[in-house]
Amino acid sequence: MRVVIVGGGFAAVMFAKTLRKKLRAPECEIVVFNSENHMVFHPLLADIAGASINPDAGATPLRQMLPGVECRTEQVQRIDLEKSRIEFDDGSGVLNRMTFDHVVVACGAESNLSIIPGMAEHAFGFKVIRDAVDLRQHIVRQMEEAEGATDPERRLWYLSFIVVGAGFSGVEVAGEMNELVRSSTRFYRNFKKEDVTVSLVHTRDAILPEVARSLGEFAKKRMEKAGIDVILNTRAVAATHEGVQLSDGRTLRGGTIVCTIGTEPAPLVQSLAVAKEHGRIRTSPDMRIEGHANAWALGDCALIVNAFDNKPSPTTAQFAERQGRQAALNLVSVTRGETTQPFRFKALGQLCSIGGYEAVAEMFGMRISGFLAWVLWRGVYLFKLPTWSRRIKVGLDWGWDVLFPRDLSFLNTDARKRLTHAYYRPGDLIQRPGDPPRFFSVIEDGEAEVLQATDEHLAGKVLTVLGKGDFFGNAALIGNRPHHTTIRARTAVRLRQMGSELFSEVANSFLPLRELMATAALRQSQHFWDRVPLEKSILENEPLASLVDPLPPKLLPNDVTLPEAIKALSESPIGELLIVDEKHRLVGTFGRHDMDQIFAQIAEIPADQRRQLPGRKLTDFVPPNPLSVTLEDSALTAAMTLLDHGKPWLPVVQSRADSQPVGYVRGERIVNRMIEKLANRDTDQASRAKAAGEANAT
Ligand SMILES: Cc1cc2nc3c(=O)[nH]c(=O)nc-3n(C[C@H](O)[C@H](O)[C@H](O)COP(=O)(O)OP(=O)(O)OC[C@H]3O[C@@H](n4cnc5c(N)ncnc54)[C@H](O)[C@@H]3O)c2cc1C
Repeated sequence: MRVVIVGGGFAAVMFAKTLRKKLRAPECEIVVFNSENHMVFHPLLADIAGASINPDAGATPLRQMLPGVECRTEQVQRIDLEKSRIEFDDGSGVLNRMTFDHVVVACGAESNLSIIPGMAEHAFGFKVIRDAVDLRQHIVRQMEEAEGATDPERRLWYLSFIVVGAGFSGVEVAGEMNELVRSSTRFYRNFKKEDVTVSLVHTRDAILPEVARSLGEFAKKRMEKAGIDVILNTRAVAATHEGVQLSDGRTLRGGTIVCTIGTEPAPLVQSLAVAKEHGRIRTSPDMRIEGHANAWALGDCALIVNAFDNKPSPTTAQFAERQGRQAALNLVSVTRGETTQPFRFKALGQLCSIGGYEAVAEMFGMRISGFLAWVLWRGVYLFKLPTWSRRIKVGLDWGWDVLFPRDLSFLNTDARKRLTHAYYRPGDLIQRPGDPPRFFSVIEDGEAEVLQATDEHLAGKVLTVLGKGDFFGNAALIGNRPHHTTIRARTAVRLRQMGSELFSEVANSFLPLRELMATAALRQSQHFWDRVPLEKSILENEPLASLVDPLPPKLLPNDVTLPEAIKALSESPIGELLIVDEKHRLVGTFGRHDMDQIFAQIAEIPADQRRQLPGRKLTDFVPPNPLSVTLEDSALTAAMTLLDHGKPWLPVVQSRADSQPVGYVRGERIVNRMIEKLANRDTDQASRAKAAGEANAT
């Protein structure tokens, strides 16, 4: 018999251990597939981030924990329950298959930062060892940056840390971060404890909703005493490079954001066609997947009703382990033709460390808080660690932490050498004149505007509008000089950014790419317009409103089909149409010049699916969020945007805040107006010269 276990966390490990004890090797082959070669002991992640233990202490190699079990560090791509086989990627890109007699799905859950705009780009998740290690490196780097900062405001920004979510992991990580930073200030000369801010943001009216209210209140008081700012009844609504925007309108500024809320099922679970509730796999009481006799689901990815209280099991390690043990015993019963047992477990209690050698605990009906709870917390987790080697390692680290200061060394995680993401809200400044060239940035989504002004408040001086696929930063990086323009987000903007050192490495290794970047920098129209200052100033002072053509008589709704849109286009006198949503906001454009793109996309559709074309929506074929200019812009902005994007026309919308289309602007009208103005200017000058000559003659 072969039992395949997918996952290598608390549930899977306990299942494999129990089964191995009950069924010996030739009788039962056990294969564990896990994406990493180790099991993560999540309760210690906060200690890793706070540098009170070494990272490897929180990760135990599976093959050393599971003698007699085949451990494969491979990602399972698909489970075929009908054919009783899995498909996995062995790293060579070739898909392999393995059949099973029983399969156990114990994939846990993954963090999902995209539930809040900007979190995925700017916040640290807190789920795997890498998250904790990266956070620790980053905290130390922030202190180093603060030490060298010359601007006092920037220094405070480096020393501001924000944690979103005050459940167990949020509270533990906030406590540890606070401890690490405040206890380390004595090694730095340019800042003090008072300069450090750690904020913990929580939506509810009390932290730690998992424990009794009195313990939550105790934890809050002690954390506040330790200097942590606990913000209750408040949601984080967006994150940017500068900090976190809150539901009450405030912005918490800070260079470190940790997001401990938001999980989603692992992709494998999402792809499994079985009964689910809130993304978790529904099981029968003995933990077999509903409707499948040889498939089991355990841990965070499963919704298992606890026969003890008839409630769904919480997603904790305590429950995952007990489910692992019980499910293995049930599988043994199945092989022996005996009856299986429903999952039944009385929770032992909860423990949470809050920093400063204090914790709160609810154990066996008792509530304990403070130092005693902290000793209990350390004792319980030391005992819970999966192997003796890890217990000794963590015990020594904790002993070291009591006697010596926390380790402030950091391995370089320099953003200049990395590919990163960034998110900006409308109105945020992305780049200021004089900023050193740090990134080469490509717009993944949204619109940004290039401002000529060095003063960020000069709203009228928009030079050009940048949209999806546009890039910037290349000119300053290639010329190794500071930026000389301001770039501001017009809508919410997502960027993909390449750090300056990585950019230089790529550009220097791939010369054709460097040349392309250099040519692109020259072609960017700011440089062109600098060569024609008179024409530039004419257009700069020409309001765009005077050049706008009225809206085409027909606007396309966003559910228009491709054939309907093509018919409308062929009847359109101007050959260009705008697509609007139900609120009359601009969502797309469709013109004769789009037809080659549409042909190319049709060619990509498999032949057997092309007969569905008549029912396909136009918006499936044209890109969303088209580039537009606003009535507030100048003719120069429109001219530059047209030139930069090689477009013959652009839609014009009411304002930056309101994307209702009001008309469109064409390149030829702008050029005509410029010629008219130049001619008028020459005539004016000639008549003035003539008048002056006549005056002199008299
Ligand atoms: C920061 C933090 C602190 C916590 N503290 C506590 C605590 O103090 N007490 C407590 O009881 N609980 C705690 N928890 C919750 C606890 O860690 C989880 O409930 C527990 O890990 C669930 O175990 P699991 O076996 O279901 O999943 P996990 O332990 O998450 O393991 C799932 C494994 O499956 C792997 N996997 C996923 N998909 C695939 C695939 N397709 N192929 C191969 N492998 C795959 C993953 O890489 C992962 O290794 C904490 C959680 C976090 C994040």
